[in-house]
Amino acid sequence: MRKPIIAGNWKMNKTNQTAKQFCLQLTQTINATSTDIIIAPPFTALQLTSDLIKNTPINLAAQTLSEHNEGAYTGDIAATMLTDLQCNYVIIGHSERRQYHNETNAVCEKKCQTALNHKLIPIYCVGETLQDRENNQTLTVIKTQLKETIANLTIDASNFVIAYEPVWAIGTGKVATPQQAQDVHQFIRETLTELKGASVANSIRILYGGSVKPNNIDQLIQQPDIDGGLIGGACLDLESFGNIITSVENHYNNT
Ligand code: PEP
Repeated sequence: MRKPIIAGNWKMNKTNQTAKQFCLQLTQTINATSTDIIIAPPFTALQLTSDLIKNTPINLAAQTLSEHNEGAYTGDIAATMLTDLQCNYVIIGHSERRQYHNETNAVCEKKCQTALNHKLIPIYCVGETLQDRENNQTLTVIKTQLKETIANLTIDASNFVIAYEPVWAIGTGKVATPQQAQDVHQFIRETLTELKGASVANSIRILYGGSVKPNNIDQLIQQPDIDGGLIGGACLDLESFGNIITSVENHYNNT
């Protein structure tokens, strides 16, 4: 059975002060044993968060990284700067990075390769826009995002995570139905079978993201190809993040 993941993407939220309050409480309340918990603070709160979650089961992720190793790239953050802070995951290709920072599939490939070179586990995000879905292009878009980014990468279930995040569901309150999500997750596994073989495809973890809340996680997590969630808005609040984790724990402990 694939171990589930609940990852919280703070995006551009929380100062060091509010991050500290949050992490102090989170480390006291989180008692997950059968779920990998990941939090992705903004760069400015990585050091503090890293110190506060040390010796706890919580993992640290960055929200992006530079594809370059070092040098004249003002404002960018290198993989070594992240590993220095005990980061072990990095989100790559989030739709907000694709939209506002022109992160193409080719750029994502370079970023994933850089992450892998430094033993950072990419959480690679794919997802269609509303227009893609209405034009029946969902599966074509997903396949292109997978092919163009990961075809040439050496990946397996231990060094790579995929997140399916329909763009129309991110931050909108419009969650994909469990069946819509399951259909795309299954398609992602089929595409991975073509690209990387059945063993990788069957063992890699695929997260759903897009308006996941405590009141919809139960149905999503019951889908056979959904292995957890990438959570935006609901991860900023301790109670809702905790409730989502509890639901996933309960599901996996009872199956
Ligand atoms: C996200 O940004 O990855 C996300 C899923 O956000 P939200 O949960 O707020 O839709």
